[in-house]
Amino acid sequence: EVRVRFAPSPTGNLHVGGARTALFNYLFARSKGGKFVLRIEDTDLERSTRESEEAVLQDLTWLGLDWDEGPGVGGDYGPYRQSERNSLYKQYAEKLLESGHVYRCFCSSEELEKMKEIAKLKQLPPVYAGKWASATDAEVQEELEKGTPYTYRFRVPKQGSLKISDLIRGEVSWNLDTLGDFVIMRSNGQPVYNFCVTVDDATMAISHVIRAEEHLPNTLRQALIYKALGFTMPYFAHVSLILAPDRSKLSKRHGATSVGQYREMGYLPQGMVNYLALLGWGDGTENEFFTLEQLVEKFSIDRVNKSGAVFDSTKLRWMNGQHLRALPSEKMTKLIGERWKSTGILTESEGPFVDEAIQLLKDGIELVTDSDKVLSNLLSYPLHATLTSTECKAVIEDKLSEVAATLLAAFDGGEILGALEEGSAGWQKWVKSFGKAQKRKGKSLFMPLRVLLTGKLHGPDMGSSMILIHKAGTLGIADPQAG
Ligand code: GLU
Repeated sequence: EVRVRFAPSPTGNLHVGGARTALFNYLFARSKGGKFVLRIEDTDLERSTRESEEAVLQDLTWLGLDWDEGPGVGGDYGPYRQSERNSLYKQYAEKLLESGHVYRCFCSSEELEKMKEIAKLKQLPPVYAGKWASATDAEVQEELEKGTPYTYRFRVPKQGSLKISDLIRGEVSWNLDTLGDFVIMRSNGQPVYNFCVTVDDATMAISHVIRAEEHLPNTLRQALIYKALGFTMPYFAHVSLILAPDRSKLSKRHGATSVGQYREMGYLPQGMVNYLALLGWGDGTENEFFTLEQLVEKFSIDRVNKSGAVFDSTKLRWMNGQHLRALPSEKMTKLIGERWKSTGILTESEGPFVDEAIQLLKDGIELVTDSDKVLSNLLSYPLHATLTSTECKAVIEDKLSEVAATLLAAFDGGEILGALEEGSAGWQKWVKSFGKAQKRKGKSLFMPLRVLLTGKLHGPDMGSSMILIHKAGTLGIADPQAG
């Protein structure tokens, strides 16, 4: 049975990298009919908080990545917080002590420091060189009676190598001679991170460990512990880092990096999920648009790339626009209409004006939170103001003067407003006769008209824009006579 887990440390917000790891685990589980487990790695009691845990769960829920087992849902392999699993770690540590894979180490921190310095001077690897790996029962007994504090230290084979076959990176191997015996439980009884992860993955029957590349070095210690406990090793898949555009590690200085920040900026979970999936994965075709269901259908770990993926916020934004327009139209209209009302640009969140405005402007909207800027941008060109503004006068005086003079006259004479009053047909009729009189058509007619009337070189369909601006004026949304 396929069982995967996402194991966040609740020490901050869910980063886009963590979200992608969660997503790949989710997709893998769903595509294999397996289970997606959520485990909270809160062994670092000082840095872990319940607020962070809540925030991470909320972000996962928002993304639509529901888990089958874990906090809030329970399951047969709980508890799902490491802080609640101490007795289990203790039990397995004792087991390893009994089997001789672990020994008690009574070295004080001063002694360990000294050993490290000596090794450094002799240019030897910093491996444990204390006597407790080979101490006699009597020596151990003596320290126990004295009450000397001790750690549990894992006995690493002094020679040989260990290799794993990573589903993304292929064969990865390590020499064991430089690792040294490592601590799995501190003298205060606190189990060490790598030990907890191994006990958890094994006892939660995790079949595939899909996680960030930065955990690859931990895999060596974890694999040794697996073997010592006699557990079957899971498959490993280490996903590459997410890089900033300059190919350095993505961090806060590159802009928003947490899922929560994107949510607040108005991103849709659909857009986020789709974009995250493309960071290191593709279905092998040109297609880049996927819903979560389509991703489940298409996802395969073999197609996950082993080189780092560059996080491109412009593309994420574009992708969000694709998903916004793919929403059922009532849904999109509702989101945008409500935004327009809440920012005060309109007094009503629905109605024919809203519908028309959305139809006209939707291709230029990538985020719901953009939509007010897009609308006000359009409405900020009340017709008359545009025609008489200094900027436009400059353009007019430059190359468009002959068209401009007639246009201004047509505007002032009420001809244009009259045409707009009649809607699209009226506008088209007027443009046609204007073009005839000016002996212009196609681009040489529309470009000057657009520049003169909207103040811009590009924009949505001109006639519809004009009609909408005019309508806004008559509805009192923006005053075409202003300025
Ligand atoms: N708790 C680790 C992290 O948040 C994940 C460990 C793992 O996946 O093995 O980076």
